[in-house]
Amino acid sequence: MSSREQQPPAAERPLTPLELYSRLEKSNCGRCLLPGCLAFAAAVVAGTRKLADCPALSAEARAELSRALQPRSSSLTPLQADFIDRLEEKIASMDLAAVAPRIGASYSGGVLTINSLGKDFHIDSQGRMSSQCHIIPWVRAPLLSYVTNPTHRPPTGNWISFRELEGGIDWQGLFRSRCETPLRELADASPDLLSDLVELFSGRTVQLFAADINLVLHPLPHFPILISYQAPEDDLESKLTILFDECCGSNLHIKSAFTLCSGLVRMFAQIARQHA
Ligand code: SF4
Repeated sequence: MSSREQQPPAAERPLTPLELYSRLEKSNCGRCLLPGCLAFAAAVVAGTRKLADCPALSAEARAELSRALQPRSSSLTPLQADFIDRLEEKIASMDLAAVAPRIGASYSGGVLTINSLGKDFHIDSQGRMSSQCHIIPWVRAPLLSYVTNPTHRPPTGNWISFRELEGGIDWQGLFRSRCETPLRELADASPDLLSDLVELFSGRTVQLFAADINLVLHPLPHFPILISYQAPEDDLESKLTILFDECCGSNLHIKSAFTLCSGLVRMFAQIARQHA
């Protein structure tokens, strides 16, 4: 079978850089601040440039291309894409140099750098994100949301449950079924998983509660979470709780906190599958 035949039909996958290039003006005018239209197409597909950065594209063309850039199975719904656009616009109006020390980030050369689980993510003055890691929606939206959050507190060292975060009561059922329960099942099936996460994501273990492992991770600089797991024993079921530093409710909207945690659990499930 040729490589051409192996590709899914164009309508079922996002555009490739060459396909996007074929639909651009191809004047290489440089107004997008890139060497030409092909470089721009590659940057858009990689997620480091937006279609709006090419002034030659009409609003209709942008909307059509935006749809074509999304795979049918993409986890980024139009609503989420719109949410990310609004966050990027908000960031474009912010003084990122002033924001950086407040949120535990650094700022240099017009770029804000935020560490998530030991990996650096960079945000430019237009809200565009880049990283050496693959940027997935569950990281992107909460990270932008964290930068734009109107309030901010440094970590306190006091741990509280999800339901105690502002707005957490309404989300706690979903949080349990999408985050705590699947993570407990993963830990039951892969006993080494949680200790592996310490290495993989610059975590640390603490001796706070009576449990087999208490693992602290920083999905965002001022958003520490604590995963406390007790393995099953005799007739006793295993137990897993995800706790949050008291500051978390001031640093991220509850919806973004949920998105971040459920995305983390999905990523841990993928890691457990790879280990298996
Ligand atoms: S601004 Fe648009 S037309 Fe000009 S080089 Fe960039 S992509 Fe091409």
